[in-house]
Formats: sequence, structure tokens, C-alpha cells
Amino acid sequence: MKIAVDGPAASGKSSVARELSKILNLPYLETGKVYRLFAYIASQNKVKYPLSLFNEDFDVVFDIGITRVFYRGKELSEELYTEEVSTEASKLASLPELREKMIEFFRALVGQRQVVAEGRDVGTHIFPNADIKFFITADPRERARRRYKDLVSKGIKVTYEEVLKSIVERDKRDSERPLYPFRPAEDAIIVDTTNKTLEEVVKEILSYILQ
Ligand code: C5P
Repeated sequence: MKIAVDGPAASGKSSVARELSKILNLPYLETGKVYRLFAYIASQNKVKYPLSLFNEDFDVVFDIGITRVFYRGKELSEELYTEEVSTEASKLASLPELREKMIEFFRALVGQRQVVAEGRDVGTHIFPNADIKFFITADPRERARRRYKDLVSKGIKVTYEEVLKSIVERDKRDSERPLYPFRPAEDAIIVDTTNKTLEEVVKEILSYILQ
């Protein structure tokens, strides 16, 4: 079974997808982490052509509840979630040639395996034939509040206003890119998580999957 979980920044989609992966015992692919990895690599090196990022020494391993990414043999995690990397990832993601290669990369990585895949275009482009698709969303202020709390807990210094501004800009950039604009798949089940706990959302989603 392939499950697609898409949604905007800080909608709670990662937490939901990770929980589903654990409950259903299916590997979890966090596609945004690979865009972040590429943004990080690009910021560390003089990259002439974004497509040359695919020739870098990187690796992506996906398993129950976790996607792990490596650059030159070193695992990267926290450093991928700074505001700079978030912004750079969304800029890279607006390049159509890069997206096309990324979509192929994800398809080849997963192959015939089962997966809970999470991102922006899983249901629309990566796995349009997924067995079930969810689009997780929430009010931008609620998303900013969650992301702010998360960043502060990681010791990152930001203000709530900065986070809200960055989320709104990122949403705008993601939804206005000329090719591959970010939209829910036509057959996706829309789940609004505003004012809902993670448990409530997971329960709601499981009821669709198990019915
Ligand atoms: O999901 P996350 O916020 O970690 O993704 C970082 C950025 O990567 C997003 O803002 C988006 O621009 C891009 N992205 C994408 N398609 C995906 C996953 C992420 O364009 N499938």
C-alpha cells in the first residue's frame, strides 16, 4: 500500500505521516527532507547547476517512522530545519528541471515497496496512483504557532512574526510556481488540523484507511 500525505509548511503533516508509518508498520519517506538536504549542500558548495546536486555524494534511507539523509557519509538532521534552509529549499523546489529529476528519484527509491510518503506533490506527481491520499492543512497562524514552538524547543532564536512571515511567503512561492504548483490532488481527502490534537487527526485518518 502506498499512502500519500501532502500539505503546506507546518500543517502537522510530518507528525501525522510518522505516526501512520509506525502504526501501520510501513516505511516513512519525508520528501521535504531531501529538498532540504539539497538546499544545505548548495549552501555549502559553489553549485553551478542545480541538477548537478544529484551527482553529489548523498544518500537517503527511509524506514519505519524515520527518513535519514546523509551528505559525504555524515547524517544531517537539525541543521536542515533552520529558516535559511527552509527558504532555500522552497526556492530550489521552484525549479522545474530539478523537480522532474526529484520525482524520478523518489519513484526509483521506493520502487514497488509500500510507503507512507509525505510532501507537497506526492499525490499529484510522485505517486499519482497511491492507494489513498491525504491533504493536511491548518490555519496559517496555527501553523506559525506550531513551527515557532518547535524552533524554540530546538534552541533556534526567532520571533513568532518572523516565522509567520516565512510560512506565508513559502506558501505563496510553493503555490505560485509556474510548473508543478502546489495543490491538493483531486482525489485527496482534505483534513484540517486547526484546533485538533495529533491523536485526533491520526484517528480520523486511520478511519479512512481502515474502512
Ligand atoms: O516539507 P518541508 O517543509 O520540509 O519542505 C521544505 C520545502 O521543500 C517546501 O517549502 C517545498 O518548497 C519543498 N518541497 C516540495 N515538494 C515536496 C517536498 C518539499 O516542493 N514533495
